Amino acid sequence: MASKYIQLDPSRITDLAPRRPLFGLSRTEMAACLAEEGEPAWRAGQLADAIYRQRIEALSQVSTFSRDLRDRMQAKGWDVCRPQIAQVFRSVDGTERYLVQGVAGPETVETVWMPEGDEGEVGDGSEDEGSGERRAWSRATICVSSQVGCAVNCQFCLTAKLGLQRNLTAGEIAGQVVAVLDRQKVEIGKDRLNLVFMGMGEPFLNYDAFLAAVRLLVEEAGLSPQRMTVSTSGIVPGITRFAAEPAEIRPKLAISLNAPDNAVRSEVMPINRKWPIEAVVDAARAIKLRPRERITFEYVLLAGVTDRPEHARLVARLVRRAGFPVKVNLIAWNPGPGVPYAMPDPMAVERFRQTLAEEGVPVYLRRPRGRDIYAACGQLKRTVEA
Ligand code: SAH
Ligand code: SF4
Repeated sequence: MASKYIQLDPSRITDLAPRRPLFGLSRTEMAACLAEEGEPAWRAGQLADAIYRQRIEALSQVSTFSRDLRDRMQAKGWDVCRPQIAQVFRSVDGTERYLVQGVAGPETVETVWMPEGDEGEVGDGSEDEGSGERRAWSRATICVSSQVGCAVNCQFCLTAKLGLQRNLTAGEIAGQVVAVLDRQKVEIGKDRLNLVFMGMGEPFLNYDAFLAAVRLLVEEAGLSPQRMTVSTSGIVPGITRFAAEPAEIRPKLAISLNAPDNAVRSEVMPINRKWPIEAVVDAARAIKLRPRERITFEYVLLAGVTDRPEHARLVARLVRRAGFPVKVNLIAWNPGPGVPYAMPDPMAVERFRQTLAEEGVPVYLRRPRGRDIYAACGQLKRTVEA
């Protein structure tokens, strides 16, 4: 093996150094890497600013660093290595689905840009902010993946069919967001933007990387945690950890309820046998909510299985018993090949919504986005097929 290397042109030696991604590192980690070069810790601030705020993509673009410093770092294999958008699918409704090239492995992950939001937040009181006519969009949402595939095995979800291929790193999670911000020329602080961790994977089964990504996005990129929502299938230890996070970095929580009781939930989400509804709700009760904050119950309507009026009344009872402020987001099931369910009748959807509303539950209907490009909820699996 070694002889192979000796035969190579020595001028190409830097190609052989393992790539060391700067993207994904915290300021403290950057300071440690700069200390190796004999540089003071404050330089980490310059580097973080260049990578996460100015969104530079190569070390050579860090204008506050001397040429000599950039060269020395590059010689040791350091570079930005931000995840790249490898492919774009554009829907008739303006939604864009991206395949984003990971860094820690060859797989691509999926990220979705919804220029008019995901509808789930309409009526939450925040839609009158934002920047108005400056853009073709005014309240965009980016949907972010946390794993390649998913181990949770919900019976109605296309991503489940992949199984878990691997966890994403913090840089790969935050990198999806920064790559899309860059593509859409989003101005942080000016543009109205929401993030939802609702793409491929279960964020709470990749907790450390998920939270490190949130930290980078809040502390370095300048996004607000109150504009972020993480969705979990109900991983109780994850919810318990999440409840202990400081408010300055804690996103809002959505729980994929998806069923009116434990019997149906165990059928459509086998994970319910491990952590039934009551355990999930108990864990969520420990979260110290901000004023006006609610926990979202997501509820996928499966024809005949979860979409009956009596189901709606059971959900209303669950909401009342939860003991914390809840809103329900209804999602009509999006079909996928080989998934054995049927789309609900629009009448059934409306009746369900109405029943919940009559029971006094704040309820919103999520309009499917980008169904034609497989970008809608539960349709993200094209990664391995593309
Ligand atoms: N793994 C996390 C987050 C990603 S899934 C979770 O399950 O919460 C995001 C949402 O999409 C979940 O609420 C899930 O129930 C929903 N979903 C999955 N497959 C769907 C489908 N085929 N149609 C509509 N919604 C779906
Ligand atoms: Fe995983 Fe969420 Fe799909 Fe369930 S719904 S299989 S937890 S991605």
